[in-house]
Amino acid sequence: MQSKVDAPCPQCLKDDALTMLAMSSEIPYFGEHTQITVICESCGWKHTDFIPSDGEKPGYSSLIVDNPEKCSARVVRSSSGTIRIPQLELEVSPGGSSSGFVSNVEGVIKRFEDAVGSILRGNADDENIVQASLELLESLRKMKSGSSHFLIELLDPRGRSQIIHNDAIIRDLMENEIQSLDIGPEVPVFEMR
Ligand SMILES: [Zn+2]
Repeated sequence: MQSKVDAPCPQCLKDDALTMLAMSSEIPYFGEHTQITVICESCGWKHTDFIPSDGEKPGYSSLIVDNPEKCSARVVRSSSGTIRIPQLELEVSPGGSSSGFVSNVEGVIKRFEDAVGSILRGNADDENIVQASLELLESLRKMKSGSSHFLIELLDPRGRSQIIHNDAIIRDLMENEIQSLDIGPEVPVFEMR
């Protein structure tokens, strides 16, 4: 389904430039969901999100990644999901990166690597940042290869995200967790349903 969006682009503020694509599909163990992509034909802004069809999921899921097989566990992250690797104090929050994605644990680590890589390139003359970034990249490399165990957490107060694995812990969010989360700007078109 493709439709025009009756709202200005959040980036370039142009009217009549947004188009929304909605597509239903099935992710194994996550279930039926609608993938929504909004694109601005004027400036190229793009936003993707996932909305489960059968209601909200519990807000918290986590997985201890202690063997390479778990690196391929599916990760469905909607625009309101926060991903944390507490051991490295790394976090992808809705404020920083608001588009949703379906990936796996390895793909999430790759995203962290890319983010650290661009910090490194942007601060090549700051010795402290360079050193810290290189250490982070080395830790992430070990995690990706399965030689270092770690916990990965996904928190989503809108209940649209999940880590999918038999060993994942899935529960509701606790009050203090909800308060620590940034749920990001809600793109108005996602309220139409
Ligand atoms: Zn735009």
